[in-house]
Amino acid sequence: MKHEVIEFLSNSDLDSLLEESNRIRDLHWGKVVTYSRKVFVPLTNMCRNTCSYCTFVKDPNSEEANILTKDQVIDIIKKGQNTGCKEVLFSLGEKPERRYPIAKRALKKIGFDTTVDYLKEVCKLTLQKSNLIPHVNAGTLSLEDIKKLKPVTASMGMMLETTSKRLTKKGQPHYACPDKMPIQRIRTLEKAGVMKVPFTTGLLIGIGETFSERIDALKTINRIHKKHGHIQEVIIQNFQRKPDILMKNSPEPSKEDMMRTIATARIILSPDISIQAPPNLSNSHSDLLNAGINDWGGISPVTIDFINPQHSWPHLEDLKKGTEAKGFKLKERLTIYPKYQKKLGFVSNKIENHICALADNDGLASDQYLEVI
Ligand code: SF4
Repeated sequence: MKHEVIEFLSNSDLDSLLEESNRIRDLHWGKVVTYSRKVFVPLTNMCRNTCSYCTFVKDPNSEEANILTKDQVIDIIKKGQNTGCKEVLFSLGEKPERRYPIAKRALKKIGFDTTVDYLKEVCKLTLQKSNLIPHVNAGTLSLEDIKKLKPVTASMGMMLETTSKRLTKKGQPHYACPDKMPIQRIRTLEKAGVMKVPFTTGLLIGIGETFSERIDALKTINRIHKKHGHIQEVIIQNFQRKPDILMKNSPEPSKEDMMRTIATARIILSPDISIQAPPNLSNSHSDLLNAGINDWGGISPVTIDFINPQHSWPHLEDLKKGTEAKGFKLKERLTIYPKYQKKLGFVSNKIENHICALADNDGLASDQYLEVI
């Protein structure tokens, strides 16, 4: 990317940037903004990393550490099905069994060697027992892991967060977090591309990275997408302070910073990549739409945002009103975007029926969906 473009993205007045990001968004995505009605399943809150901004992770020796049982998972999924959800998002800590013997023993006790093996099992169960379509957020994955999970999921995700190696040094938020070495996350993005997995990634902003490091992360995502064509959405997520984290006194990104980053993402990334910002982490939905997003991500009528538990989901009716007030139509989508539903090699056989039953003619979520099981 030319130096002048980086200069423009970093320093130009915000209005010019927004004008360009809106132009690109409207041209490619029209006047439709989407969301996915989903349930969140926090399969395990144990993790081998210790990111300084994380409130989700629990010490495996504490009473709060857990691995959900199959019955608990099915219970959440059934609640989701009964409230019209179409996606189940499995979010979990990364490979706790590789660091903590207690986590390894807990997995062994339920019959599994690795977290990914158990994840595969609960995705399979989801497909057998519900209409819901699994999306997994399991962090860095090997090619073997992706091969195991692809037949039982429609899409996968992992936030790249940042490409800054600086943030892995002592005193920084990713210190001693093996899965947060940027190269490991970049490799996962690449492997997902090789395996033709519709993939969600994104940036976590405000954890100590510079603006040009954000640009570098966006360029990295775009480069990998150009090679494999599998990045279906990019989330721009703003860091939120919480009382129980190491970064409890760090400043949160300002509204202008968030808007500039979203607009920059819209300008740098290929226009076919959906841009999403979490609606529960902002006071103004209108600002996020003005910045150039076309998607609100997952919203749940059943489960909280386990990553930012202090921020509840907006009421769907309010989100609809706010979206319409800016001239957009709010539509529900599935976890897998329409474009990938028909793309050769991107959908596995086990998932096809579920997608057919839940999608309308445009590949978005149907109001009149059929029972799969
Ligand atoms: S943010 Fe994710 S990778 Fe980091 S400690 Fe929390 S669960 Fe683990």
